Amino acid sequence: MNTYEKVFDEIVGTPKCELNFDNNFELLIAVVLSAQCTDKRVNLVTKSLFKKYPNAKALAEAKVEDVAKEIYSLGFYNSKAKNIVSLAKDLVEKFNGQVPSTMEDLTSLSGVGRKTASVVLAEGFNVPAVAVDTHVFRVANRLGIGSEKSPYHCEMALKKHFPKSSWGKVHLQMVHFGRYHCKAKNPSCNACKFQKICLYYNKKKD
Ligand code: SF4
Repeated sequence: MNTYEKVFDEIVGTPKCELNFDNNFELLIAVVLSAQCTDKRVNLVTKSLFKKYPNAKALAEAKVEDVAKEIYSLGFYNSKAKNIVSLAKDLVEKFNGQVPSTMEDLTSLSGVGRKTASVVLAEGFNVPAVAVDTHVFRVANRLGIGSEKSPYHCEMALKKHFPKSSWGKVHLQMVHFGRYHCKAKNPSCNACKFQKICLYYNKKKD
């Protein structure tokens, strides 16, 4: 276990994914809906959404405007409704309605990028993966263990920095740490156990 893993364990323990889901179809749709939105807000709409459209076939056959009404309280509800209906159609056409379990297959689906695919791999299939969202990108670069070039480069840097067995856990720890401690504005540096080794903090101090 490296120093960063030890400190993440001390600060945030072992957080769970904050999205509610009962199966990999629900997980995939919830992750897509969580773009530019909080998990809490997504959870408010998915219970009734998944009751109405419990699988890929049902969602693929839905009218986009009906789905938009179900997710109205989320931002960008029209485009998100269009996206998840297209995604469900793709699931039915390419994978018989089942969520595939490889990065290649997942990213072949409409609107699914590496970040979404990585969350599904880690959370749904227990496959080691590092999903780089806005929180992970910020925290990794502030700490000096990521790469500012792109989320893809950051993912590769983190995969080198942490053992494969820790990828899923470290990803959730960094999301949680970024959401509640190392926030974009006014990070809680004064109480942070990373102070000594944090690039951002030490640059700011100079
Ligand atoms: S010292 Fe501040 S910027 Fe660095 S990791 Fe901690 S909260 Fe984030």
